[in-house]
Amino acid sequence: KESNARENNVAKIRVVVRKRPLNKKELSRKEEDIVTVSDNALTVHEPKLKVDLTAYVEKHEFCFDAVLDERVTNDEVYRVTVEPIIPTIFQRTKATCFAYGQTGSGKTFTMQPLPLRAAEDLVRLLHQPVYHNQRFKLWLSYFEIYGGKLFDLLGERNLEYISICYVWMLMGAQLGTFKKWLALFFSNRKLCMREDGRQQVCIVGLQEFEVSDVQIVKEYIEKGNAARSTGSTGANEESSRSHAILQLAIKKHIEVKESFRRNNDGNESRGKVIGKISFIDLAGSERGADTTDNDRQTRIEGAEINKSLLALKECIRALDNDQIHIPFRGSKLTEVLRDSFVGNSKTVMISCISPNVGSCEHTLNTLRYADRVK
Ligand code: ADP
Ligand code: MG
Repeated sequence: KESNARENNVAKIRVVVRKRPLNKKELSRKEEDIVTVSDNALTVHEPKLKVDLTAYVEKHEFCFDAVLDERVTNDEVYRVTVEPIIPTIFQRTKATCFAYGQTGSGKTFTMQPLPLRAAEDLVRLLHQPVYHNQRFKLWLSYFEIYGGKLFDLLGERNLEYISICYVWMLMGAQLGTFKKWLALFFSNRKLCMREDGRQQVCIVGLQEFEVSDVQIVKEYIEKGNAARSTGSTGANEESSRSHAILQLAIKKHIEVKESFRRNNDGNESRGKVIGKISFIDLAGSERGADTTDNDRQTRIEGAEINKSLLALKECIRALDNDQIHIPFRGSKLTEVLRDSFVGNSKTVMISCISPNVGSCEHTLNTLRYADRVK
């Protein structure tokens, strides 16, 4: 790890833990905060019972690259996790930043502001003459992986289709049928993946947008977030079952003939990728345990989530050990991120934990996962 740290002064893999404050509900239930933080270490105080039912506390200690307590702001999170990586993106680095943790632990809260801050810094660097003269541009894409399938969160919606659904419903079709049609409509934004001979991953049909200022980035992020929650029944419930992936890529602009562009919707047609950073709001880690649920769909999704989180762990470990063979084929998530697991890569894992005693088991699971990745 030391040699990696010397390169660009940023370690190849960093694992950071963020603890959120107790929320109103937990406070009103007078739940105890069982996580204490000191520097880069934290302790979980797990309440337990002996066989004779006397209570005792078992302490679990962990150490990470950084531990951020409940007072740390999102700005500081950015400074600790993403900011150091930004300049390396111009030096052909493919970076990934994950938020891992149980539903409600603060993944989305932590992840949401990061791409915006990153875009601010990237745009500022792009304006420097050295990059400006090389015609470097910033591109954005936003998609999700749900049940092992890819969906574009910024894809154009087919308005004709939705109006047919609507008319169909007006004509007296059951709401259930309408929903089924609506689901079909959303599956129009379904994407598939292709790999070229040079280990470049290409997501066929994924919309990418050139963004030149931060306001536009903000609008795309909001549009994507809206698609993430409206494409489902209950917003938080569904978003906890999908991985959301927002990518910011620096590309070198290449003039191409219009005809070539039309025939080839691969990334290469719009420019050569110099480097990129992916922000990944992972599915709730506890969802991977939904494999015994009564509902078949839930079981299938749970198994898929479990598979992808395990595969992710294996890939990051392989990366850390400088293994030549990276087991990225283990899941859709790792396959999509394949080009970020080879060559010049940087990974930041932000593990989010809830402090309340009721989440103790999930918190320990999250920390053990983070510990294995480290
Ligand atoms: P997840 O995405 O992991 O399911 P969320 O990010 O939606 O969790 O967070 C759950 C709730 O906790 C949200 O209402 C969020 O605003 C709040 N929250 C999470 N982390 C923090 C934090 N560090 N400080 C204050 N509130 C937080
Ligand atoms: Mg979330």
